[in-house]
Amino acid sequence: MPGAGEFLEALPDGALVLVAGGTITAANAQAEDMLQLRLTGLNAFTVIRLPAFVEAVQKCEQQNTAQTVELDIHSRPPRLLEAHVAPLGEGGSMLVVLRDLTREQQIERMRSDFVANASHEMRTPLTAILGIIETLQGPARDDSKARDKFFGSMLTQARRMKRLVDDLLTLSRIELNEHVRPGARVDLADVARQARSNLLTLAKDVNVELSVSSSEPALVAGDADELLQVAQNLIENALKYGNGGGKVEVTCEKKAGFAVLSVRDWGKGIAAIHLPRLTERFYRVSTQESRARGGTGLGLAIVKHIVSRHRGSLAIESREGQGSTFSVSIPLY
Ligand code: ADP
Repeated sequence: MPGAGEFLEALPDGALVLVAGGTITAANAQAEDMLQLRLTGLNAFTVIRLPAFVEAVQKCEQQNTAQTVELDIHSRPPRLLEAHVAPLGEGGSMLVVLRDLTREQQIERMRSDFVANASHEMRTPLTAILGIIETLQGPARDDSKARDKFFGSMLTQARRMKRLVDDLLTLSRIELNEHVRPGARVDLADVARQARSNLLTLAKDVNVELSVSSSEPALVAGDADELLQVAQNLIENALKYGNGGGKVEVTCEKKAGFAVLSVRDWGKGIAAIHLPRLTERFYRVSTQESRARGGTGLGLAIVKHIVSRHRGSLAIESREGQGSTFSVSIPLY
């Protein structure tokens, strides 16, 4: 029969055994990891100095019934643990099982932030459209000149809503498949050329010279449509935000087992504090500028998810006033 220590080690969660008074007589590595301490021999109440925990242990001791409490641990970074305290036999010992809920709490917070952000993004154009309809029904009913202008604004707002819904649907479709690695043979250099030809008109409109250079095919295991979307999102951003520089260069090369697609612009660049957050949904350096250029704030989030589905990585280098380079690396086929 294995000893108590071996049972504790085999558990997926943190676990420790206490005797009456709070002394810890055994603890597994998971618990020591969570609390960042060697636990055996210490007093549990000095390790977890939270009234809710002390109360749960005392209740368990007095009533001989299991107790569950959530504990906000003020460590760095802060953690949310769930402690389940249960009596162990008749001798007054107790088993404390600790589950780390930090990640679940973060996911829950992200989900509710996301719903709030998406609703807010939808409401803005919708409010504008409703306002215009009311004006068309009322004061501008017989003004044909104003009517044309208002229809134009309605079209702009409706298109903005459509882009948003399209991007949200794309994001959710990619997320659903994120754990399935795509397997078709795709030449990333071809994808770059295709993206260029799809965006040439836009490049001309904003007066930017868009070039693609690649010396050899760069085959990856991938999904051609998704990789095209990655290239297009990056090039579109370079055209939208980097157009002050007059040119955008796309390169595709093989480097250390990866195919690397880089999109470089010479626009105004991005301040360092924004870089770590750029791929978050709805994060923008300037919401006003993004909206004025038809952005949804979801383009780079889509890029990040597609790249992660392809087991690749995204690197962003940028300096204010000097432009930006967005590079995607995907393992070679
Ligand atoms: P958007 O729809 O707003 O373009 P993205 O997710 O594609 O959303 O990009 C997020 C933000 O990152 C943009 O709003 C912009 O502030 C910044 N950004 C992206 N690419 C560039 C670039 N090449 N140069 C400067 N800023 C950029």
